[in-house]
Amino acid sequence: MIVMNQESGNLNQITQKTTERDILFSQLFQQTHTLHTLTVDNLNAVRQFFPQNNSELSDYVQKAQNEAQYSLDLVSKIPSHLRDFDNTFYALDAAETLIYSRRRAVESISKTHPDSSFRNEGTACKDQLVEFSLNLFSSKSVYNMYNEAYQNIEKYGVSLSKEKEDYMKWKMQSLRAEGLHLEEKEYLQVKALKTDINRLESFFLKNIDEDRSFILVSDEELLGVPESTINSLIKENTFKKITCQYPHYFPVMRYCKVEKTRQSLYRAFESRAAEKNVPILKELIQKRDRLANLIGYASFAHLDIFDQLAQTPEAVEKFILSLKDGIQGKFKSEIEQLTKELPDGISLDENNCIKPWDLMYLQEDYKKTHYSVNEIALQQYFPFERTLKKIMTMFEEMFSLEIEIIDTKNKGLWNTPGWILAVKDKANKGRIAGHIILDPFPREGKFPHGYCFDVLSPCRLPSGDVNPAIVLLMVNFTPPSEMRESILRHDELVVLFHELGHAFHQLLGNAEMPSRSGYHIQRDALEWPSRLFEFLMWEKENLKKFGEHFETNLPVPDELIDAKINSKNATSGVTFARFFYLSMFSLKCFLGGVENPKLLREEIEKDFLPNIACDPQINKEASFLHLAEHFYRSKFYAYFWADVFAFDSYDHIIDQQKRGISNVWLKFRELVLDHGGGLNPNDQALQFLGRLPAVETYLKKISSE
Ligand SMILES: [Zn+2]
Repeated sequence: MIVMNQESGNLNQITQKTTERDILFSQLFQQTHTLHTLTVDNLNAVRQFFPQNNSELSDYVQKAQNEAQYSLDLVSKIPSHLRDFDNTFYALDAAETLIYSRRRAVESISKTHPDSSFRNEGTACKDQLVEFSLNLFSSKSVYNMYNEAYQNIEKYGVSLSKEKEDYMKWKMQSLRAEGLHLEEKEYLQVKALKTDINRLESFFLKNIDEDRSFILVSDEELLGVPESTINSLIKENTFKKITCQYPHYFPVMRYCKVEKTRQSLYRAFESRAAEKNVPILKELIQKRDRLANLIGYASFAHLDIFDQLAQTPEAVEKFILSLKDGIQGKFKSEIEQLTKELPDGISLDENNCIKPWDLMYLQEDYKKTHYSVNEIALQQYFPFERTLKKIMTMFEEMFSLEIEIIDTKNKGLWNTPGWILAVKDKANKGRIAGHIILDPFPREGKFPHGYCFDVLSPCRLPSGDVNPAIVLLMVNFTPPSEMRESILRHDELVVLFHELGHAFHQLLGNAEMPSRSGYHIQRDALEWPSRLFEFLMWEKENLKKFGEHFETNLPVPDELIDAKINSKNATSGVTFARFFYLSMFSLKCFLGGVENPKLLREEIEKDFLPNIACDPQINKEASFLHLAEHFYRSKFYAYFWADVFAFDSYDHIIDQQKRGISNVWLKFRELVLDHGGGLNPNDQALQFLGRLPAVETYLKKISSE
């Protein structure tokens, strides 16, 4: 029998002894590597990773819980003096990552399954797994196990790889950030507060989800709205009902010539869920403040940001202020442009400010008159399936991959339309890197936004072997109709590239620590690859290469592409200034002692967006979902921190290509994507750029004409 060396407890030293302890370590070794032995390397195995019906689902959840419980039981049997990195830190990380993957498979049901009752079942089982995992791995007894291992490693000066060393330090700090180091009485308070906070967060999000605000308008009040939008409105007696859903909201705000309609819809949209969420937000702020103070942090933002690249709220505030200053010139000149020749029916308010419900209309009008972008004509050149093939050919060349596009003929993950991309890694002896399940079209009950789901991460064994990953890429593009195949708008192409950035990061990023494999890096670096990939859809050469008219097969005319590319930054000043104001608001909300978030938001809004009136009748903060979203909370800035990495990387790539260096994208793969979260993103940037990314490059790019 092959078992572990009993004295060191080192899982990688194998001897031939058969004591009880050896058996324990042998079992632990096997259990720890369950994750790596999941060889999901073909279509059938991919499907089988997801439970397909109710009975499979309940078995699956039971199995996931048993696996995790068994791992923890094994780890807890290790005598304190034999605890080390591999048998405690690594073993627990692998167990937690495994149940996370199972949970993601279950969550995929709740986000995309066509059957509503199975979706609900999926949601309930997902919640059950989240709670189970939290109770199992976040307890004082588990903290003690980590602490014992940590003490042994320190005491004997055990040398660890840089990745493991970093992980260990972070893990100890984050366990303390959960309050696990506190005395029992305080810890129970922390636990109770956390339960309350979780409940408040999910109510906050649910209230936004379930909000059904709408306005009723007559036919005359829809003047200017595109025919296709009007046709999609439901009739109520002699009125039409405009909901706050995006397919209604945006076309009406952009094109409706009737101010009263725009004003009412703006107020309905910006006050979604207000009645319920205004008090919830106040309570959430208070409870998060208390939680942070109990654990020993100056504010919730300090607790929320300590393990990010920014590290402190002070650094974040400085960063946001530099962005605000940097965009100001462009913002001002746009406001001047927008107000110079006001279109018919638009007027400024008594303070000479743009009324907020006129802003989108003005921006659209400005683009139309100055850039003559023709979105509808451009869309005819991007039939989805043909474009997808060309895009994948490009990625094959860029990253040394082989990608097979499998048309599942409506037998995708849940017998739904879509494609599965089987990706082989040519740079690594053609090993199967994994599968991207592409779920492209909207359907009843499906998650309405773009989302790249990290179902299974590629973890690296000391031998160098890596298990294939699974990615579920959900988007909601223009579906095919009886008349024609699916054709993609330019913004849909940009979303596709964005999500593919996450998908390839998840597929290629193999780290030593299971939980750091895939795209699991700091939140303020997460959007680095995805925002970088978006640039590819703004390159004329690529649009030329991918485009062909869906009926005539003709190439895209230059003028359509040029107009689109020229319009990229048309109103970027206003757009980014709004993002920066929301970043500052999400930070300051959680710096402690905020009693009136609406007032705080209005102050920041007026400061960041001069010349655009601040409407006292709205409660935008009540539907700002990032405030309650686990990944963001005080970190809305994270998008823009990552933007700095992405924009500078793109600049570098273009510069290198101009110098005749052709494999820069492959370098990006090797020095960034392939690391996953195994190396600090600052170090990844140092390797790729030779320096840290510069905020100036970012500001220059977003404020250029
Ligand atoms: Zn993203």
